[in-house]
Amino acid sequence: MEDGKHVFSGRRPFNIARQAGLRAIEPSACPYTDRMKPRLSIAAVPRLLLPAAGLLCFVLSAPFAHAWGDVGHRLVNRLAIENLPADIPAFLRSPAAIDEIEYLGPEPDRWRSPAEPELNAAQAPEHFIDLELADALGPLPRNRLDFEAKVFAAHERPERIGLQPWATDEVWQRLKAAMRQYRTLAAAREDTRPVEAAIVFYAGWLGHYVGDGAQPLHTTINYNGWVGPNPHGYTTDHQIHYRFETPFVAANIHAADVQARMTPVRRIRGDLFDAYVAYLRHSATFVEKVYQLEKEDGFEGAGTPESRAFAAARLADAASMLRDMIDTAWIESAQPVPDRFAGK
Ligand SMILES: [Zn+2]
Repeated sequence: MEDGKHVFSGRRPFNIARQAGLRAIEPSACPYTDRMKPRLSIAAVPRLLLPAAGLLCFVLSAPFAHAWGDVGHRLVNRLAIENLPADIPAFLRSPAAIDEIEYLGPEPDRWRSPAEPELNAAQAPEHFIDLELADALGPLPRNRLDFEAKVFAAHERPERIGLQPWATDEVWQRLKAAMRQYRTLAAAREDTRPVEAAIVFYAGWLGHYVGDGAQPLHTTINYNGWVGPNPHGYTTDHQIHYRFETPFVAANIHAADVQARMTPVRRIRGDLFDAYVAYLRHSATFVEKVYQLEKEDGFEGAGTPESRAFAAARLADAASMLRDMIDTAWIESAQPVPDRFAGK
């Protein structure tokens, strides 16, 4: 696949990071991936970020552009739409919409080119979150700016920790707002085609982040090689992230494998942000599993039955969550909008 050139470069030696201070480290040879998050000594992070005394000098993780590669992202988006319930408007389940939303699966990775450096810098953190570091700052606020304020107050930078749940929730809310507009226009018997295009775009854009969120290595400081104490001897080289999510998936995982592992449709009840964070935390429970599978050569060639089932299950979790988020957005788009002047 075309992502073959996008070799994930991994982290650089700690002393290089020290020499670089807190400045961004230049991108690797791959133009679309691997712009490394600037790293810093753990001593530069507030003490509350230290989960264990042994972690004295690990470096912080980096964003990665191609979670699941094109193949995985396209699979997630297509399967989510193909499995939407029948009460979703037909335009969103049409073959044309499915093709477009599938195409959009890798779209945010196309915003990571050095040809658009400001866009790249601003949205690269939206693909991941290092939960260990985010949690060390206390409960995750619902609002992106509140989280960023906490990060800055801790003398840190959001791009070193990640903004995944906020970016995802915001795109989901864009989708819901567009669906509400669709309902308004349809009720007025006005042309809905423009808003249909917007809904398709938002659904496809959303799918990228939900896909990223199911990749365990997008939720952790151990994003590409184990850091800190390593009693099990997990790999510390910088290939595991790319090998798992891109060539292994492309060569071995098929739509039927993923479809078979999807859950039944389930409307998301309660707060969407909380539900999405729970989804990320569930992904994070599989971080060590990725390393165990790698140790058993699970991502070499055809891998093992266990590694193939694992990757298919992670992608199925993403497709199921995306389908349910779209379905929930549709249901909630019918709710009356709170009066912004109420109580004033
Ligand atoms: Zn991504």
